[in-house]
Amino acid sequence: MMDLHAELALLRDLGYTHLDLRSAPVGAPAPSPAEENRQAGAPVPTQDNSDETLDELGRIALACTKCKLAGTRTQVVYGVGNPNADLMFIGEAPGRDEDLQGEPFVGRAGQLLTDIIKAMKLTRDDVYITNVVKCRPPDNRNPDPDELESCRPYIRRQIALIKPRVIVTLGKFALQSLLERSYSITAARGNWLEYEGIKVMPTFHPAYLLRTPAAKKEVWQDMKKVMAELGIQF
Ligand code: URA
Repeated sequence: MMDLHAELALLRDLGYTHLDLRSAPVGAPAPSPAEENRQAGAPVPTQDNSDETLDELGRIALACTKCKLAGTRTQVVYGVGNPNADLMFIGEAPGRDEDLQGEPFVGRAGQLLTDIIKAMKLTRDDVYITNVVKCRPPDNRNPDPDELESCRPYIRRQIALIKPRVIVTLGKFALQSLLERSYSITAARGNWLEYEGIKVMPTFHPAYLLRTPAAKKEVWQDMKKVMAELGIQF
C-alpha cells in the first residue's frame, strides 16, 4: 500500500492544493465506465495486482481530472505489463483504440510494437508499456504542453516504482516530455541518453514506421543495442 504521506506527496506533485472530501470536484466530467468500475471497488484494469503500489498510483490516475483531456476521454490509459520489468516502452498518448480498450498500444501501431517486442525475444508481459500522456487527445492531435506537464508526475512515478534497466522512448513527444528538452528525433534516435541514472534509447514511433516502413531497419538497429544492454542474444 502507498502510505498516506506518499499519496499526499503525489497529489501535491500532481498540482492538487486542497481535497474536497464532501463531493466530486465542481465541473468534474461524468465518470467513465472504468472510473465507475473503480468506484464500485473493481480492481484497476490493465495492471498486475501483485504490485499494490503501482496499483495505488493507477487508482489515482484513473480518477484524474487535472487537464482538459479528462473531459473528452473514454477512459484513462495508465499502463500495462510487468511491474518489475527491466525494459519499459514509453509512447506519446493513447489513440482511439487505446481510449476504448483502456490499454496502451493496441491499435495498428500497437500491433507493430508487439511485433518489435517479439523480435526482441520478449513478450508484452515481460515489459512495461505506457505513454507520457494517459488520456487521448481529441482526433489524435499532438498533446498540448499543459497536458504533457500535467501528466508528467505519473510517468516519473511509474518509472520510480518499476525501476527498469532500460527505457525505450517512442517518437519525439515521449523523449522530449521525459527529458524535458527539445530534440530532433532523427538526430537523437539510436544514441543512449539517461534519465535518473536509467539508460534511455530514443527510437522512432511505430506510427511513423507504418507511414515509413524503410525506417524499420533503423529501429531494429536501436533495439539490438537495447538487447545487448539487457544481455539478450540476437
Ligand atoms: N500511440 C501512442 O503513442 N500510444 C499508444 O498507446 C497508441 C498509439
